[in-house]
Amino acid sequence: MSENTHKFYQDYHELVDLMKKSDHQYNYELIEQAYLFAEEKHGDQRRASGIPYILHPTSVACILAELGMDSESIAAALLHDVVEDTDVTLEDVTKKFGAEIAGLIDGVTKLGKIPYSSREEQQAENIRKMLIAMSNDIRVIIIKLADRLHNMRTIECMKEQHRRDKALEVMEVYAPIAHRLGIRAIKEELEDLSICYLDPVGYSEIERQLEKKSKDRINFVAQIKQQLYDRLKTEFSNVYIEGRVKSIHGIYKKTFMKGKTMDQIFDIFAVRVIVDSDDDCYKVLGIVHDMFKPLPKRFKDYISTPKPNMYQSLHTTVIGKEGIPFEIQIRTWEMHYTAEYGIAAHWKYKEGVTKKDSLDERLAWIRKMLENQSDNDSTEIVPIIKMDLAPEEVFIFTPKGDVINLPNGATVIDVAYAIHTEVGNRMIGAKVDKRIVPIDYKVRTGEIVEIVTTKESGGPKRDWLNIVKTSEARSKIRLWFKREKRDENITEGKAQLETEFKRLNIHVPEKDMEKFLSDVIHRQNCNSLEDFYASIGYGGVQLWRILPKIKEEYFKKYSGKEPAPVVITEPVRKKVSGGVHIEGIDDCLVKYSRCCNPLPGDDIIGFITRGYGVSIHKRTCSNVPKNIEDAEEPDRWVRAEWDDQISHETFQSTLQIMATDRTGLLADITNQLTAMHLFIHTLNSRETKNGMAHIEVSITVNGINHLKMVISRLGGINGIVSIGRS
Ligand code: MN
Repeated sequence: MSENTHKFYQDYHELVDLMKKSDHQYNYELIEQAYLFAEEKHGDQRRASGIPYILHPTSVACILAELGMDSESIAAALLHDVVEDTDVTLEDVTKKFGAEIAGLIDGVTKLGKIPYSSREEQQAENIRKMLIAMSNDIRVIIIKLADRLHNMRTIECMKEQHRRDKALEVMEVYAPIAHRLGIRAIKEELEDLSICYLDPVGYSEIERQLEKKSKDRINFVAQIKQQLYDRLKTEFSNVYIEGRVKSIHGIYKKTFMKGKTMDQIFDIFAVRVIVDSDDDCYKVLGIVHDMFKPLPKRFKDYISTPKPNMYQSLHTTVIGKEGIPFEIQIRTWEMHYTAEYGIAAHWKYKEGVTKKDSLDERLAWIRKMLENQSDNDSTEIVPIIKMDLAPEEVFIFTPKGDVINLPNGATVIDVAYAIHTEVGNRMIGAKVDKRIVPIDYKVRTGEIVEIVTTKESGGPKRDWLNIVKTSEARSKIRLWFKREKRDENITEGKAQLETEFKRLNIHVPEKDMEKFLSDVIHRQNCNSLEDFYASIGYGGVQLWRILPKIKEEYFKKYSGKEPAPVVITEPVRKKVSGGVHIEGIDDCLVKYSRCCNPLPGDDIIGFITRGYGVSIHKRTCSNVPKNIEDAEEPDRWVRAEWDDQISHETFQSTLQIMATDRTGLLADITNQLTAMHLFIHTLNSRETKNGMAHIEVSITVNGINHLKMVISRLGGINGIVSIGRS
């Protein structure tokens, strides 16, 4: 097709103008190719409003050009609907435009397919997390936001119900993402457009009120600007001042949700002063406070403590001539760009330099920005991006569109038990994205998982205990065996115990057994000997853990002899217990020392005890000599390594949490831990000086990664300052 059959619509010329106005070295040839290809492929398709389809991707590209995104993002925006809406395949795009652009388009297409149902807050949160987790390249999210923004701008012609659905989705999912990424311009426009469809009456009321005094307001702001400029220009060579009115949604929140009247909202209009350096910002603040009377408690220094989404500025509210309070924001140009463009500012100012950036570097940049933040609403972004950096969680869908959140490595069995205990117990197989998968299949974010069940399934299998990742699934499976297979468990448990007693030379007559074991039975929370056997049978009681004590008691009570100094072989289920390999020793009893509570993933070392197996310490434990050669009995220290099977064991770990004290803090911590299905052994809290709280909590985890996830989740709780491991 020759070029002159193409229509270069006005919108395309606007796109080119926008790119030419920026400092970027855009790849104009690539972008024109993308436009021509999209225009040809969309052909005479039209939008619901009747405009040629190509104008939609062109407008999306314009939004990205305004944000200063790179050539690849703009080309991908122009092409973003060709795979979805025309006969073009992803392979075609890859061939013509390369893998990078194809990858962006694929990401945008996939995100578009995520079903949204606003059943509860948690669901919206999961979808937000999943959107970010699924887009390995953060540019995908930015393109998607621009796509949504243009759709919202042109939603007028849609049916009422459709408009409301989309507006709700934007309000609950997309605007919060734009906020987290710090893209103010997109966030505010998305919110204003949504609220206009969600509450047309409230929206127009605010509009009306704003209009009522708009002339006074414009004059007022103009006056302040002039006053400030006259004074500041004598001190600073470069100073820029602008006035703005708060977004309608911002006022909406304060009036309808916080019950304030328009007069009580100090920042309905704000004046912004932009200068060259951080120092200048503080100097301007001094001058401003000299010119106007500041309102107490309204000063905020977001320069020394940036907001989690990287926002920096000084805010102060002062009182103007007629006693009208107004807000002044003081910032540098760099802070200004970050405030407006957030993460997108990265591309705006780094084009060319970081073009070949690996994803890692890009994310490292985000991480660095995040580490520099210490604002207390860190709940906002940190857990989200952290997950993006080190995916410790996966999000999957049920066929109904519910989102289920599981730890990384979870299998389809975990999914089944997360849906419902009965679904797990009746499971016979699973389908992922409509394809049958093996029972130990590990699910990945974005997959649709369907559990195949039947009433005649015969219940879970014992080896599922070795496959599942979540303690929730494991305990439900154990519970099933405990309930359904009591007789079998008793026989199994009794047999196991007898074998071990024989091997350890413990001889107790059958009739004395209950009496002999009464302490142990009690300690294991069992009601009778049968109960105890049954617990061993279904795995609730782990024999190798309790045998040393039994042995000790036996020799005390019955023989009076010292227990033989042998290393007890770990007897049952050696595949799943023990958890460590000890150099030069096979199948030995290990115990995890209480002094340092080692976790899988820690560097560890073993100490051969006298008669009670090998105790495992962290290499850094204070009870382990720094130089083994200098130790008293160097031969007793042995090299130890974690077994890969370790995820089936659980360990106790103690966390030291520092937080700003507030009511509900402990409840929040407990709720979060319970939500993660963690067993809490102890929880102590004490006040420290200067209003801080020190909380010590012992929990059961299944390894260092699990613990990291727990720490990252707790880190999201309001007020928590630090979390350490003891
Ligand atoms: Mn689109």
